[in-house]
Amino acid sequence: MKQAALHFLASNQFEQLLSTLKQSGYHNVAPQVVDDTILYRPLKSLTDLPQGTSDQQGEGRYTLNKKGVEERGAQHIFSWANGPQALKPLLFPPQESLWRAEKESSGKTKFMSIMPEVSPTAVIGVKNCDLAALQLLDNHFLGTDSPDPWYRQRRESLLLISVNCTHPSDNCFCVSTHSNSNQSGPEVLSGYDLNLHELDDGFLIQSGSEKGEEILSQLTLTVVTEVMVEEANSALESAVSAQKQQLATTDFRPFFKGKEEAPQWQQIAEHCLACGNCTAVCPSCFCHREEEIPSLDLAVSNHQRLWDSCFNSEHSMLHGIPVRSETTHRYRQWMMHKLAGWHDQFGESGCVGCGRCITWCPVGINIVTESARFAEEEKQTEASYSRSTVKSNKA
Ligand code: SF4
Ligand code: SF4
Repeated sequence: MKQAALHFLASNQFEQLLSTLKQSGYHNVAPQVVDDTILYRPLKSLTDLPQGTSDQQGEGRYTLNKKGVEERGAQHIFSWANGPQALKPLLFPPQESLWRAEKESSGKTKFMSIMPEVSPTAVIGVKNCDLAALQLLDNHFLGTDSPDPWYRQRRESLLLISVNCTHPSDNCFCVSTHSNSNQSGPEVLSGYDLNLHELDDGFLIQSGSEKGEEILSQLTLTVVTEVMVEEANSALESAVSAQKQQLATTDFRPFFKGKEEAPQWQQIAEHCLACGNCTAVCPSCFCHREEEIPSLDLAVSNHQRLWDSCFNSEHSMLHGIPVRSETTHRYRQWMMHKLAGWHDQFGESGCVGCGRCITWCPVGINIVTESARFAEEEKQTEASYSRSTVKSNKA
C-alpha cells in the first residue's frame, strides 16, 4: 500500500464515518449477521456490524463463529470471507417489474415503464472480488448501445466503501483470476469511492473518487505511520498465501476446445443436482427470464424480470424444446461460459474467484478442481505428443 494516499481513522471514529455518510444524504448498507450468515442489510446501528465474527468455508460447507456482544471487545469488524450475497441483488434484484400495460376505457392499451425508487446508498465492506464482479456486471448491463436503465439507476446511486480482504476462506482463489478489468487479489486497487484496511486499533482509509474525497474531508483523521503500512502489507501478504486453490488458467478456451462431449461433463453431472445455487450466489451471473403477471380481469399486466439459471432446463427452450435437456449439458454450459465463452463475449473471464459456488453447492462441486481436470488432460496430451514426436524424430 502506498503511504502517501493513506490516512488513519481510529476505531472510535468509525461511527463518525457512518454519521458523516448519513448527514451527506446516504443511507448505509453494511454486512450483518442474518440467518447464520453474513449479508448486506440497511445499517441501523454500529453494533449491528459483524464485529468479532469469523467464518469457515469448505466444499458445500459454511460455518459462522459469532461472538457475543461482551466478547467482541476490540475485535475486527471485517474478519470474515464473503457470505452468499454479493452486490448483484442490490443492482439486479431477483425479481422486479420493468413495465406495466393497462387497458384504457377507450380500448387502447397504455404502456408505462416502472423505474426503481432509489436513494443515495453507501455500501460498506465490499471486498475486491465483488468490485471485480461489479465491473463484469457493468460491462454486461451498461457496456452496450442500449444500457439497462433499471440497473443504471441503481448503479448511479451507490457509493462504494470497500475493504481490503485479510481473511480469505479455503474456497477463495481470487489471486489466480486476473484478467483485463478484473483486479485480482485481496487488496482493492480501483473501483471504490473509499477504501479501508482494518488494523487492530483503526483503519487505513483512502479515497478513490471525488465523492469519496468529500466524505474523507469531513472525518477526524491522523497521519499514517510506516509501522501501520508494514502491518497492512504483511496482512495482505498473508491473505495471498492463505489462498490454497488456484485456477489452472484465466482463459480455458484452449482446454475446452473440442471437449463438448468429454466424459468429465457426465462425471460431474452424476453429482450435480441442477439446483442452480451456484448461479444464484455467483456475483457475475446475470441470466434472467421475463414474465407477464396479469390481473384477474386482464385489464392490467406487469412485465417482470426474474433471475434464471442455466441449470433450469426451461432456460434453454428454443421453439418449446429445451436444447440442454440433460444436467450434463447444463453444467457444461455454466463452466464453459464462465471460464471460456465469457472471453469471446466480454474479453475476459467471468469468474472473479470468490469461491461462493463451491461453498453453496449442496454437493460440494468445486469449479477449480473440475476445470483443472481439463487443463491436466490437455497437458498430458501435449506431453505424450511431444514424447512421440521425439521418438519418431530419433527413428
Ligand atoms: S464462478 Fe464461482 S468462484 Fe467464480 S465468480 Fe462465480 S461464484 Fe465466484
Ligand atoms: S454445481 Fe452444485 S450448486 Fe450448481 S447446480 Fe449443480 S449441485 Fe447445484
